[in-house]
Amino acid sequence: MKTAVIGGSLGGLTAALLLSDLGVDVHVYERSPVELAQRGAGIGFLPDSQRYLVERGGVALDDISIGTAHIRYLDRRGNVIYDGAQKYRFSSWNTVYRQLLARFDARRYHLGCELTGWRDDGQAVEAQFAGGKPSQRADLMICADGVGSASRARLLPEAKPVYSGYVAWRGMVPEMAVDAKVRAAFDDAITYYVLANSHILVYPIPGVDGSVKPGERLLNFVWYRNYLAGGDLDDLMTDQSGQHREISLPPGAVSDRHMAELRASAIARLPAVFADLVCSTAQPFLQVIYDLDIPRMAFGRICLVGDAAFVGRPHAAAGTAKAAADSWALADALARNRDVPTALAQWEPGQIALGKQLLERTRAIGRRSQVDGNWVPGDPYLILGLRGPGN
Ligand SMILES: Cc1cc2nc3c(=O)[nH]c(=O)nc-3n(C[C@H](O)[C@H](O)[C@H](O)COP(=O)(O)OP(=O)(O)OC[C@H]3O[C@@H](n4cnc5c(N)ncnc54)[C@H](O)[C@@H]3O)c2cc1C
Repeated sequence: MKTAVIGGSLGGLTAALLLSDLGVDVHVYERSPVELAQRGAGIGFLPDSQRYLVERGGVALDDISIGTAHIRYLDRRGNVIYDGAQKYRFSSWNTVYRQLLARFDARRYHLGCELTGWRDDGQAVEAQFAGGKPSQRADLMICADGVGSASRARLLPEAKPVYSGYVAWRGMVPEMAVDAKVRAAFDDAITYYVLANSHILVYPIPGVDGSVKPGERLLNFVWYRNYLAGGDLDDLMTDQSGQHREISLPPGAVSDRHMAELRASAIARLPAVFADLVCSTAQPFLQVIYDLDIPRMAFGRICLVGDAAFVGRPHAAAGTAKAAADSWALADALARNRDVPTALAQWEPGQIALGKQLLERTRAIGRRSQVDGNWVPGDPYLILGLRGPGN
């Protein structure tokens, strides 16, 4: 069975590895011309995201992620108002990417290959690429091309990501670059501060080189802030060069005005330890938060996985876990049935249910923080998890 995986990020790589393990002839086609190792920031590292590396890669979790034992909330003055026992693991996108990529045959991972279209005659799919690259025939095409998926736009033109009303400002700071007081405030925890229509959280992640040693790690923040759709958001999303971007602004792209506003707001509105961290971040970046609901994931010999399918807001820290779960379920379905359309039809309902559940739960959590203002520290509903709080 020949399989083309479109998109070589965490979802695409997990699918490619699992299908390779089944003996399937898999090639990954990634649009980016260079390896993606510099991308991304911290991730809440849930069991589904860990699963391939632990079960098939023999990786020790302590070598690629950091365990924390507390959920902590601070008040405006920086006093601890809630501290509950809760074990979590955090890693970074590039640490996990490097680990997965190292396990996949490099000759089958093709950079600079942007899918532009396909022909599907029912017997096979012929994937076509930009720049005159040769098209590829496959029995199965897995589209793991993310929230901006062009394949989804073609398969389901009516299904579009819907703006949530807010963005995530993000950044990472080497833990030794901040004051000992700041390090102590965020030690061994995910730490939150909730303010009107907004919240910020901080957790530790591996260093840029993947080191998990105390002193070599990074502190990662995510600050959810509301911007009105239209001019307010468009102004934010217009980068230094005047170009408007839909989904994210990478490090260095945020305009000087918005950088100044972020730092001033951090100092004015956040407890000092959070403000210190935000202001110590050399190049914060941001991601627009979208909801994406779709009615189908399987289309004969083509399927959508990960963010190309459902996108839930990040409040469950479950995006990469969902992409991995889609891939594990797909591999299970293909192991049971090598007829691709039949396997995809059997796979689809469970993954649609998973995506809808995650979308609804994270939408409700986001609404409580960013609109209703009734997010209660310690509420068990807010525990991270793919299949439910803490699950
Ligand atoms: C603020 C924020 C915080 C988050 N926090 C967490 C967290 O704590 N834990 C967690 O698990 N998840 C988290 N996520 C979600 C997570 O980042 C995504 O769910 C995950 O990256 C989705 O992986 P993916 O492989 O499906 O898509 P992506 O990572 O988006 O990858 C898609 C890939 O497809 C490629 N591509 C696109 N178009 C084409 C094309 N035409 N041809 C070829 N290649 C193409 C892209 O270059 C890219 O490499 C967070 C997201 C946000 C926005």
